[in-house]
Parts: sequence; C-alpha cells; structure tokens
Amino acid sequence: MSHSENCIFCKIATGAIPSRKVYEDDDLFAFHDIHPWAPVHFLIIPKLHIPSMAQVGPEHAALLGRMMVLAPRLAVEQGCNPYPAGGFRTVINTGEEGGQEVHHLHMHVIGGPRPWLKG
Ligand code: ADP
Repeated sequence: MSHSENCIFCKIATGAIPSRKVYEDDDLFAFHDIHPWAPVHFLIIPKLHIPSMAQVGPEHAALLGRMMVLAPRLAVEQGCNPYPAGGFRTVINTGEEGGQEVHHLHMHVIGGPRPWLKG
C-alpha cells in the first residue's frame, strides 16, 4: 500500500494537509513538528505508508538508510550546531508502548542549544 486513506502523514506528504516543509524528494518528506520539543524539531517520513518500524522489512533497507543519511544534513541546515559540540537527537517511536501516536513511520530530529535536552 503506498498511501493510507486516513493517515495524516500521508496527507501531509501529498500536500493535502499543509505543513512547514523542510525537504522533499521522490521518496522522502520532512516537515517541522507542530509541537516542537526543542528549538529544532522536524520529522522525516517516507512517502510510502509504512505504519511503524514493526512493519519494516529488507525491501525497506535503502529507504531507511536514506532517512538516516538525510538527518544530519537537514539538522545543520535547520540550525543545529555542528558535531561534536553541537549535534541533535533522533527518535523513532514504535507502537503504543513505544510512545507512537501517529502510525506512519517517522523519525524525529531534535536539537538546538540546551537546556531542552532531558533524559
Ligand atoms: P508523540 O506524539 O508521543 O511524539 P509520535 O512519535 O507518533 O508520538 O510523534 C508524532 C508527532 O507528530 C508529534 O511530535 C506531533 O507533534 C507531530 N504532529 C502531529 N500532527 C502534526 C501535524 N499536522 N504537523 C506536524 N506535526 C504533527
């Protein structure tokens, strides 16, 4: 399934629901989180509707790899200070016990000057 009918992040990826876009290519979309935890907080999603990490298989390896490669580039572009004094945090919540609320795989990229960093 490429899109899921009632998925808010599928709608964001197609532009049906507006977002503050950070990046887009044929396979990936990135946008600012609507409730940021930190000065920099955006989400990277595959356009393909994968509900969570629990549904990932070998066929998704390249897509997930591209998300990982994109994160540090976009983090610096969005204002995170460079490594090693700067940096950022990446979070992927999976399932209800993992804190996932939107069931379309997404990577949080969170950063900026402390004191936002907790835990
Ligand atoms: P949690 O809400 O516990 O972080 P998730 O890992 O599923 O759970 O994260 C979903 C994220 O999506 C939240 O940080 C939320 O603020 C963000 N979000 C929800 N709706 C939108 C939207 N329309 N535009 C941008 N971000 C959104």
